Amino acid sequence: MPKSVAIIGGGPAGLMAAEHLAGKGHAVTVYDAMPTVGRKFLLAGKSGLNITHAEDYARFVTRYGAANGRLRPVLDLMTPEAIRAWAADLGTETFVGSSGRIFPTAMKASPLLRAWLKRLERLGVTMLTRHRWTGFDGDVLLFETPEGQKRVIVDATLIALGGASWPKLGSDAAWVPLLKAQGVDITPLRPANCGFDCNFSESFDTRFSGQPIKSVKATSAVGTTQGEFVISRGGIEGSLIYAHSAALRDALDRDGHAELLLDLTPGRTVEKLAADLARQDRKASFSTRLKKAANLDSAKIALLREVNAEANQLDAIGLASLIKALPLAVKRPRPIAEAISTAGGVALNAIDGHFMLKGRPGTFVAGEMLDWEAPTGGYLLTACFATGIAAASGIDRWLEASKA
Ligand SMILES: Cc1cc2nc3c(=O)[nH]c(=O)nc-3n(C[C@H](O)[C@H](O)[C@H](O)COP(=O)(O)OP(=O)(O)OC[C@H]3O[C@@H](n4cnc5c(N)ncnc54)[C@H](O)[C@@H]3O)c2cc1C
Repeated sequence: MPKSVAIIGGGPAGLMAAEHLAGKGHAVTVYDAMPTVGRKFLLAGKSGLNITHAEDYARFVTRYGAANGRLRPVLDLMTPEAIRAWAADLGTETFVGSSGRIFPTAMKASPLLRAWLKRLERLGVTMLTRHRWTGFDGDVLLFETPEGQKRVIVDATLIALGGASWPKLGSDAAWVPLLKAQGVDITPLRPANCGFDCNFSESFDTRFSGQPIKSVKATSAVGTTQGEFVISRGGIEGSLIYAHSAALRDALDRDGHAELLLDLTPGRTVEKLAADLARQDRKASFSTRLKKAANLDSAKIALLREVNAEANQLDAIGLASLIKALPLAVKRPRPIAEAISTAGGVALNAIDGHFMLKGRPGTFVAGEMLDWEAPTGGYLLTACFATGIAAASGIDRWLEASKA
């Protein structure tokens, strides 16, 4: 008689666990609140599904901050190479982009998800959508369905409900009070890979909102990276900002203030820039001098003035220094609903080495709802796949042991 497993949450973590458990011969049912599964996975594919990363694996495994130690052996279960092989087996070839990020050749998630769901169907996985998990009644799982409340008893349960970003796609973190009620330790959820509000003036905002700031270097506690970002309504967002978002968010929490140091002219030294600025005709306008000497476009010039309204009073060396290290203060992270991912979640000390809740034997947890975070670059999906497999192995082991 196969053992029954409920997987609550049909995102990448839950579906990966379903594949493994069904492959082991268990009777697997995936429950999801939404009308279809994998909605965030599909959204991730809209901007080019970055499924994993090709950097040196020794470096790769250090991308998970405080959770590095805990995730290290788990990532070995689904390495970047293994993810590429898995995707290829589902008919999705991948390529390594110039930044080392790995994408499906078709860039999209939909062909991969379609093939994956077909495989799960072949493996006998039952998908029950429009089933919202609302908690436990003792050993019974409770679901709200269009037909009313359903009570389900299974041999093992995996909870893989995701974080709190983009709640309209399904992961709305309604599980937080449900698990807290079970005595599960939850680290407060915070936005990760997010934009920030800044103290921009109304006029700057109106004029430059939506405009990119290209080819800049940004420095925060995590180090220096080069890239671009966008002036958003009242703030900043984009890949370069996401790379520094955990450091900025943590500094705001810790110190009440945080700033990103921007180098608006990477590749030029302060001395060279100062010499070029000093050569400019003092009668020319400030903008003209900056355009000619530093090759700054109007958005960069406006940002410079927004940060320091008296920049035009500075001498060449002072101005060059400001252009090379512009301290852009951030006020607060944008709301978690807008973030790419979520920091915080089920504390790693609340689960055992097999991803089972210590206080609820037979109930396991995987994916983004666990307390780890990582930058963008394919690290998020990789850890969701890997923790899905780790929890599935834990469930398989648990079910084997319970037969004895
Ligand atoms: C815009 C955007 C772009 C992204 N791009 C990338 C990228 O390129 N690369 C990358 O690595 N990561 C990316 N991510 C992050 C990645 O998509 C997530 O980390 C990943 O989807 C999390 O997987 P998960 O299985 O843990 O949870 P989710 O994918 O969030 O799935 C959770 C599932 O649980 C269901 N659920 C929630 N509550 C309940 C309930 N009470 N009852 C039943 N079901 C419930 C939801 O409907 C959902 O289907 C992106 C995220 C966003 C928002």
